[in-house]
Amino acid sequence: MIEYDVVIVGGGLAGSRAAVEIARLDPSLSIAVVAKTHPIRSHSVAAQGGMAATLKNVDETDSWEAHAFDTVKGSDYLADQDAVAILTQEAPDVVIDLEHMGVLFSRLADGRIAQRAFGGHSHNRTCYAADKTGHAILHELVNNLRRYGVHIYDEWYVMRLILEEGQAKGLVMFRIRDGELAVVRAKAVMFATGGYGRVYNTTSNDYASTGDGLAMTAAAGLPLEDMEFVQFHPTGLYPAGVLISEAVRGEGAYLINSEGERFMQRYAPSRMELAPRDITSRSIAREIRAGRGIHLDGSAGGPFVHLDVRHLGRDKIMSRIPFAWEESHRLAGVDAVHEPIPVRPTVHYSMGGIPVNTEGQVRSSAEGLVAGFFAAGETACVSVHGANRLGSNSLLECVVYGRRTGAAIARYVQNRKLPDLNEQDYLEQAKQQIQALIDRPGQYRIAEIRQAFQDCMTEHCGVFRTEALMKEGLEQIKILQQQAEQVYLDDKGTLFNTELIEALELQSLLIVGEMILTGALNRQESRGAHAREDFPDRDDTNFLQHTLAYYSPAGIEIRYMPVNITMFQPQERKY
Ligand SMILES: Cc1cc2nc3c(=O)[nH]c(=O)nc-3n(C[C@H](O)[C@H](O)[C@H](O)COP(=O)(O)OP(=O)(O)OC[C@H]3O[C@@H](n4cnc5c(N)ncnc54)[C@H](O)[C@@H]3O)c2cc1C
Repeated sequence: MIEYDVVIVGGGLAGSRAAVEIARLDPSLSIAVVAKTHPIRSHSVAAQGGMAATLKNVDETDSWEAHAFDTVKGSDYLADQDAVAILTQEAPDVVIDLEHMGVLFSRLADGRIAQRAFGGHSHNRTCYAADKTGHAILHELVNNLRRYGVHIYDEWYVMRLILEEGQAKGLVMFRIRDGELAVVRAKAVMFATGGYGRVYNTTSNDYASTGDGLAMTAAAGLPLEDMEFVQFHPTGLYPAGVLISEAVRGEGAYLINSEGERFMQRYAPSRMELAPRDITSRSIAREIRAGRGIHLDGSAGGPFVHLDVRHLGRDKIMSRIPFAWEESHRLAGVDAVHEPIPVRPTVHYSMGGIPVNTEGQVRSSAEGLVAGFFAAGETACVSVHGANRLGSNSLLECVVYGRRTGAAIARYVQNRKLPDLNEQDYLEQAKQQIQALIDRPGQYRIAEIRQAFQDCMTEHCGVFRTEALMKEGLEQIKILQQQAEQVYLDDKGTLFNTELIEALELQSLLIVGEMILTGALNRQESRGAHAREDFPDRDDTNFLQHTLAYYSPAGIEIRYMPVNITMFQPQERKY
């Protein structure tokens, strides 16, 4: 059996930052990072616009309290304010630390780290490396994993969390190259498995963002928190859905409808294009619904609006947002120096996730904690984003809470023994599970079920939601779950069997989708990214609380957990 003091699933920003922290604090600990991609291909590498921190390099009047208030207001008051205070207080320190590791941030003329405007932030506080910030940070972190001797299992797929008597003991994984199965036991297990954008048919996320960590946690009987809050990024490139960074609006881009109007003046007059994402996405969706979207031939009534950067000029476009120009050119044939970019909302980020405390330890209920189990990053819900995340707060969360969780794990494993578990049992079960998938005489293809599921989620649990729509969606998902039991695999082999991985990922997607829909159906109010047309107002009396959803194949049970309100009392949210 493979044994480590700590095993971390996920080599993105959160997992890598945690591993570096553990190695720094106690070099004697053995640490493994397992990832189904190469760590550098984690979705973090695609992050573009930047990372918020009150360095005060551009705006001396900024403060962590202002950052905390913006975050809480942006969250529609659902964020836990103790967690937000930590996030915003520790932000400058983690940025400087990344800089010392070698991350090349963009600079002001005097050499200090530059900071740009971002949606929902009241001051210019987003640090960036042009519009390739995730690339700059993740490369340095992964270099540091190697430097600190962290063991990397890249292209290993984790298929099960081993949880016995309320304690996480390890995991079951297989090597994608040759199908070799392995059980890992460890004193602490950490999930940093990222988001689930692939639950929807149009997303900015990579193909690996299938919510495996969420599904494994739910399947083990542990709750997931606030899954109904799905972030739609306002500016996905039409039709591909890939991201045109918010940095583009941070640098001054306009959103324009078919009438040539900067329509955000009707929805968020004080913040215009830099309103938070939930409000901006809904505004675009409303314009398109009202017939003020645009067609590719330029006529009215189409499926997108325009993002216009022409007034910024070639020099600014090429130096500050070169990647946005390149993407528009490559994927939509648009030269943004001369033409507006076609955009519409695209699924981008998961506000909910595996519930954790501010030390990254996973919760088993509103009061209880799971021994030996930790999580951080997009897959976790600590909850700093509540019902709506502000741009550039996610990279920050990964690094602040990656570091804190790493430190908590380094303390946790001291003087602990490796847990006992029966390796053979777990190997045998995994072998049977895989064999059963391969042997199925089924009649459905993975791609057709996945497409039907993604279309169902997009149609029934999108930007706007109603009870009738969601109930219908849940019924369709039940049918799709039965059909997924009958998928047929062409590839029966063990070498790079990517079809098998897609079959396992499909199971993750279906569980996560059902959790999102059920949470959304039960939350009879509109808050942040969750917009119910049948309950258009926020309802603090009944729903100023976190959803905790417990999965079982028989059905999902919904409970609630109080919100931590220490600094800012809920107010009406206006921009
Ligand atoms: C296009 C894009 C741009 C963004 N830009 C910004 C930005 O400018 N600022 C900002 O703050 N946020 C941004 N975000 C959000 C932010 O990048 C992510 O939330 C964050 O990087 C997530 O990091 P993570 O470490 O939690 O997970 P990820 O980076 O997604 O890593 C997940 C890891 O888990 C592994 N994994 C998953 N499942 C398994 C499994 N079953 N077995 C083994 N390994 C597994 C993967 O291989 C991967 O290594 C952006 C997101 C996108 C999609």
